Amino acid sequence: MARYSVFSLLGNALSGNRKWERVWRSPEPKPAYDVIIIGGGGHGLATAYYLARNHGITNVAVLEKGWLGGGNVGRNTTIVRSNYMLPANAHFYEHSMKLWEGLSRDLNYNVMFSQRGVLNLAHSPSQMDAYARRGNAMRLHGIDAELLDRDQVARYAPGIDMSPTTRFPIAGGLLQPRAGTARHDAVAWGFAYGADRQGVDLIENCEVTGFIREGSAIVGVETTRGTIRAGKVGVAVAGNSSVVLQKAGLNNIPIESHVLQAFVSEALKPLIDGVVTFGAGHLYISQSDKGSLVFGGDIDGYNSYAQRGNLPIVKHVAAAAVTLFPNLARLRLLRSWGGIMDMSMDGSPIICKGPVDGLYINAGWCYGGFKATPASGWCFASTIANDAPHELNAAFTLERFCQGRVIDERGAGPRPELH
Ligand SMILES: Cc1cc2nc3c(=O)[nH]c(=O)nc-3n(C[C@H](O)[C@H](O)[C@H](O)COP(=O)(O)OP(=O)(O)OC[C@H]3O[C@@H](n4cnc5c(N)ncnc54)[C@H](O)[C@@H]3O)c2cc1C
Repeated sequence: MARYSVFSLLGNALSGNRKWERVWRSPEPKPAYDVIIIGGGGHGLATAYYLARNHGITNVAVLEKGWLGGGNVGRNTTIVRSNYMLPANAHFYEHSMKLWEGLSRDLNYNVMFSQRGVLNLAHSPSQMDAYARRGNAMRLHGIDAELLDRDQVARYAPGIDMSPTTRFPIAGGLLQPRAGTARHDAVAWGFAYGADRQGVDLIENCEVTGFIREGSAIVGVETTRGTIRAGKVGVAVAGNSSVVLQKAGLNNIPIESHVLQAFVSEALKPLIDGVVTFGAGHLYISQSDKGSLVFGGDIDGYNSYAQRGNLPIVKHVAAAAVTLFPNLARLRLLRSWGGIMDMSMDGSPIICKGPVDGLYINAGWCYGGFKATPASGWCFASTIANDAPHELNAAFTLERFCQGRVIDERGAGPRPELH
């Protein structure tokens, strides 16, 4: 598989772009692998990549029921940040941030990571206090954070309604300057390219329909393309975690599934430099390189596996957008789509060895798993390779929910729809 370089770019441009090689092969599944990863989303592909790169395990297959990148990795609003307060989350997401910072070079694939900053708006003195506390905790963890007052917010994002009579007046905000966005499809394709180059088999249109057991251990999977055996099976099927884990006999995974929508407007002149998040109305918004505004808001409160959006949420999120940026009222919405969120009971992820031998679980990403993609793959690969958690995911166990060691970043309690 060719490496991308300025010379390959020029050579292909001069030959009419007819000689580009396929980015990944399309192999037939082998009867057995050392490791099978179920789910060709960002996390599954990153896991396969780091299994090969960090641990030299290349006899690996990624099984994807649809096409690579067709799930949440290609459906999100692309925000990447590490502005967490609790130590387990802060260290994990900051590791992700550091991987993002070198990812295009590492993968030899441009994931278009743009460190344009992420600003969380505050609407009251008490929220400013909370942000000061979170910013201080971040800085103590070695993560960048700046507390902005009202005037600084007005300069950072000039379109915001700063009037004192708006529904949620702006008191200030917490900015993480190193945060930003990445091109979501390119992240999936980059990890696929990196894994394939190291010999990992990426198998599309291959749905896992069941698990093969020997005694109490899982030793392979049943798929729509036949039976495939493996020493270890990792499940990374965000949005379908409870459905797939049920096939392995796990009926009580602490996860609820909800739909989250993304929105893209028609293109307009540069309006928003960084990413702005508006907690009170629940909106996060940025502007793409093409000029479209990309934004999202609340999950739908109803439990659902429907991978499509609905109009009440369009109205709800559009109202939040216009409340914050009144001049968006005349903008046309071009597209909206939905993805399924596996909402965990404390809002934090689950990356661990499963309760059954041979099974490994990567789940519970709620609606913030895109930014976790590199660290999730890094830690899940380490857990699978070593049969023990990496220090960065040691706290993200399944057992924490029955032991009372939850990692409740938002303090919302065991209410998945609130995280
Ligand atoms: C609208 C929206 C906005 C979001 N915004 C952000 C954001 O701004 N920042 C952020 O950090 N996160 C965001 N997220 C969340 C983030 O996208 C997800 O948490 C993350 O992408 C999930 O991990 P993944 O990429 O591996 O999942 P996916 O891409 O969903 O991968 C899982 C794959 O498993 C496959 N699969 C399922 N069942 C089977 C089976 N039985 N056999 C084989 N394959 C199977 C699916 O087809 C899918 O491709 C957003 C999500 C949505 C939907």
